[in-house]
Parts: sequence; structure tokens; C-alpha cells
Amino acid sequence: MFAPRYSGLATFMRAPVAQSLADVDIGILGIPYDGALTNRPGARHGPREVRNQSSLMRAINHATRINPYELCRVADVGDVPFQSAFDIEASHKDIAEFAATLVAADVMPLSCGGDHSVTLPLLRAVAAEPVALIHIDAHTDTWDSFQGSKFNHGAPFRRAHEENLIDPSKTVQIGIRGAQNVSEGWDYSEQAGMRVMFIEEVQQRGIAAIVEETRKIVGDSPVYLSFDIDSIDPAFAPGTGTPEVAGLTTAEAIALIRGFRELNYVGADVVEISPPFDVGGVTALAGATVMYELLCVLAEARGKR
Ligand code: MN
Ligand code: MN
Repeated sequence: MFAPRYSGLATFMRAPVAQSLADVDIGILGIPYDGALTNRPGARHGPREVRNQSSLMRAINHATRINPYELCRVADVGDVPFQSAFDIEASHKDIAEFAATLVAADVMPLSCGGDHSVTLPLLRAVAAEPVALIHIDAHTDTWDSFQGSKFNHGAPFRRAHEENLIDPSKTVQIGIRGAQNVSEGWDYSEQAGMRVMFIEEVQQRGIAAIVEETRKIVGDSPVYLSFDIDSIDPAFAPGTGTPEVAGLTTAEAIALIRGFRELNYVGADVVEISPPFDVGGVTALAGATVMYELLCVLAEARGKR
């Protein structure tokens, strides 16, 4: 940690490369896959650029004073290896198998995507029973098929609900916005019993009230947190596939995550960072910082287990 931050291999957070899973509590992995996108491409390049920007992260959180590296053994466990990148379902199988090896070794996954379709196979690996879900995104991602595939990046939480991987009564979707051609996704979430918090509600009630209600819904159930970078306003995070203006500020996003301390985490991810659409690395830096804040809350929860 005390070597110059621009030197050495660009692992996530400058964590060591895992030599074995036996001595790892939290494994940070890259998922360089964007074969399920419906619009602007490039999220396959997310992990490499987030690794680069994450070398700016340091150890002690100035607000919470959490030092994740004192609480847990953190390592970069590498990227999911893909065998059939042109086949979405085969690629999802590769992701689920890689994540399952982590879960089997009692390693909590903190993933960097990749498009949002990757969260479905991650949930298949971590959800031994239906888990609670905190989903921060401009989109509910509960749409159905697009261009012949029901595994596109607009559908992971609909599939997760159908596969009984998430408990809809303990699912909260935060920051939803942007016009649609059909209301089907919003309707699906609400009819399934998920709590959908549109951005106007977040802005009117404020982060503290959103955190309080979300914590009540999630309780002490095993919970997964999925963070789509497009939840953040494109003024702060332009490098993403389906940007929607009038979103969260980076400060609001970080305040949300700090509000979700001491939950019963099973894992988390940050997805949809597209470096080819980024400007000066600002989106990858926002993504790396969100991952660091998630690492702090995951390490605190894991350290107390
Ligand atoms: Mn999404
Ligand atoms: Mn989105």
C-alpha cells in the first residue's frame, strides 16, 4: 500500500493477486463480457479500466474509518475466463461456475462487469435460497426478451425472480428513470412485489429516508447489492451503455452505500462501465470508488461474521 500508486501490476485496489482461494475472504473479480447489450457497447473493457483507476484508492475510509484490509483478506481473483463469448447462455454458465468456485471456498465475490446480464449468473452462484436485493440503477432490468434473447442486460432481475433467486418482497430498486416505449418492466417489478423507487422519490425524500426504508425491507436476510453505473448522472458517469440524465450524484451514490453498513451480504457487483464512451476515465474512477465503498461495507459485514 505504501508503494507509489502508479507502480506495479494494476490489480483491483492494488490488492494482491490471489495465489489460492484458501486465504481469501473477499475476492474481487472482473467479468469482461458485454455480449447481452441492447445499446452502446464497451462494458467488456470495464474491468481493465476500473483496475487502472482503482489504483488511486487508499485504505482507510475518511467517513467511516473502515479499513477493509484490516478486517478481511482481500485479493484480486482475476477475470472470468470465457469459452464461448458469442453465446450468452454459455457465457453466463462460465460466470456462474467461476463465482461458484469462490462461494465453495467461502470467498465473498465483489464483481466488476461487464453488462448487467452478468448479475443473473452471479445470483445463481450466491443464492442458496432467495436473497434480498438492493438494486441501484436507472432501469429496473425486469424487461423480457429483446432481439430473441431473454438473457439480455435489460432482463436479469426478471429471470432472477422466475428462477427464485431473489425474494421480490425484499427487493428494492433505487434511482429508476428515463422514458420507455412500453411500461412493461416497471409494471413487472411492481406487480411482482418489488419496491421501485423512482429518482424523483429519491430526490424528494432524500438519501437518509431511502436508506431507512430499504434497511427495513431487507432486514437481516442474506442480501446482494447490484450497482449499475448508469444510476449515476451522466454528468458524473458518461461512460456507460444506456445513459439517463437527472440521476444520482456520485456523492449521493456513495452516501447510499455508506447507509447500507452491517447488512448480511452475500456479494455485490458494479456493472455497465464502458471505457470507450468515457471521458478522461471519470466513469471508471466513479466505478472504482463505488467498488471501494462496497468493499468497506462488505469487509465490515464479513469481519463480524
Ligand atoms: Mn442495469
Ligand atoms: Mn441501467
